[in-house]
Amino acid sequence: MSNSSLTVGVLALQGAFARHSEALERLGVDTIEVRTPAHLAEVDALVLPGGESTTMSKLLDSQGLRDPLAERLDAGMGVFGTCAGMILLATDVSDGRADQQSFGALDIGVRRNGYGRQIDSFEADIPVDGLDGPFRAVFIRAPVVERLGDGVEVLASVEGIPVLCRSAAGAPVLVASFHPELTDDDRLHQLFLDQLA
Ligand code: GLN
Repeated sequence: MSNSSLTVGVLALQGAFARHSEALERLGVDTIEVRTPAHLAEVDALVLPGGESTTMSKLLDSQGLRDPLAERLDAGMGVFGTCAGMILLATDVSDGRADQQSFGALDIGVRRNGYGRQIDSFEADIPVDGLDGPFRAVFIRAPVVERLGDGVEVLASVEGIPVLCRSAAGAPVLVASFHPELTDDDRLHQLFLDQLA
């Protein structure tokens, strides 16, 4: 499937959604900012951006998006979650708020803000499986991946901690603990589009 035949939504309730839309548009994809179930119904795949997973979780409920999104994910819709988006797609979340809920779209366990205060933001040039050169990864109060389930493929790690993972089979799920939309390097967005094909 060429990029131009896809409509990709970016969940736009809160957080760093605008730069994701720009990256996808540079790649020739039609994008929609998703704020309602009607918007969600129009998309072939979805990006869950960084931001604040507790707030996003509440807004998913108040906007009536929780159940429709869970249904689309169960039905195999492709999804790319970055930072808070990764938390929302995980199976287990440590140090979350009691009322925050995740979708369990990828069998990983994450710890919110797991890098700690001293290094709560940092950047690193990381090698990524399948990419020719390193990718500049920007980490902002990032989650730490503490558990990998079966069927989870690690594409990049920093100091032994997975930071970019995807589903090896089944529904296309890609998650990054960093913010790939903050550089002008669109290769991870293209990697996601390739995973949908
Ligand atoms: N710490 C945030 C959370 O728990 C995630 C930070 C981010 O998305 N940059 O949701």
